[in-house]
Amino acid sequence: AIYQTGDAPKPRYVRVNTLKLDIGYAMLELDKLTKVQKDGLLPDLLILPAGTDLHDHPLVLNGSVFMQGKASCMVAAALRPEPGWAVLDACSAPGNKTVHLAALMRDEGEIIACELNEQRVNRLEDTIRLSGASNIHVVHGDFLNLTPSVHPYNKVQAILLDPSCSGSGTSAERLDHLLPSYTAGHAADGTEIARLNKLAAFQKKALTHALSFPSVERVVYSTCSVHQIENEDVVQSILPLAASLGFRLEAPFPQWSHRGLPVFEGAEKLLRTDPLEDREGFFIALFVKEHVDRHGGI
Ligand code: SAM
Repeated sequence: AIYQTGDAPKPRYVRVNTLKLDIGYAMLELDKLTKVQKDGLLPDLLILPAGTDLHDHPLVLNGSVFMQGKASCMVAAALRPEPGWAVLDACSAPGNKTVHLAALMRDEGEIIACELNEQRVNRLEDTIRLSGASNIHVVHGDFLNLTPSVHPYNKVQAILLDPSCSGSGTSAERLDHLLPSYTAGHAADGTEIARLNKLAAFQKKALTHALSFPSVERVVYSTCSVHQIENEDVVQSILPLAASLGFRLEAPFPQWSHRGLPVFEGAEKLLRTDPLEDREGFFIALFVKEHVDRHGGI
C-alpha cells in the first residue's frame, strides 16, 4: 500500500533554546524571514510555513533555535523536570532532548546524560556546547550498568528513557510501516520481527532499570516507533513491577487526542503521534510515583 504523505504540506517546527534567546525575540527575528506562529501546546515551539529552510540561519548556527519536530519536543516536556532537580537522560545522543531538558530546568540542577556509543558521545557533546547549557554531565557508558543506589544516581528524581528503537515512525522511505497490520506488529517479514523483539527486550530491561532508581518520581519512556511491540507491549509488560514499586501511568498532555492502542486497561494514558498527521510517529509513556509522606499517606 502506498500512503500519501505529501498531500497537504506540513508546517516546520523549531524549538527556541530559551537558555540563549527569549521566545518573543526569536519570533521577531524569524518574522523577518517568514510567517511565524506559536505552537498551542508547547510554549517554546514555533511553527513556520511548510518548506521553510533554516539550516543556514544564524539563529540555528549559534544554537538559539533548534530544528526539532513537535513530537520530539513533547518528550522532554512530558517529563516536566523542575529547575534544581537531578535528572538522568539514559540514552541521550545526539542530545536534542537533553538540551531541551536543560532549557526547561533553566540550567539549574543537574542533568546526567548517559550514552553508550563513543562517536555519538562526540555528537552529544557538540549539541551541549551549542546549547550553552552548563548543568549537563556526560557519562560515556551503558545505562544498564549504572548503579542506582550510589551517588549521584541515588538522588535522581526524573529519568528520560528514549532508547534505541526501530525508528519506524520517522523513516520516510518505509511507508509500508504505516500499514495498520504492521503497526500492530504482524509484519510478514520474520527477520524484521526478530529485530523488533530484540529491541523490545532491551527496551523492557532499560525501563525496568529506570524504575529501580531509589529517588525517581517521574520516568518518561519514548520511542520514534509505530510498532506496538516497542510501545504498548513494553509498557504493559512492566506494569505489574511498576505498580509494586508505587508507580502509575499518568497521561502526558491529556488534551492530546491520539492515545495508545487500546490493548490494555489504562492504555488511553499513553500518547502517540501520527506519522502522517504529525510528520513523525512517536510514542510517550509517563510513569509517576505517588508521593508517600512520613506518615505513610499519599
Ligand atoms: N534522546 C536522543 C535525542 O533526542 O537526541 C536520541 C536517543 S537515540 C533514540 C538512542 C541512543 O541510545 C543512541 O544514541 C544509542 O547509542 C544509545 N544507547 C543504546 N543502548 C544504550 C545503553 N545501553 N546505554 C546508553 N545508551 C545507549
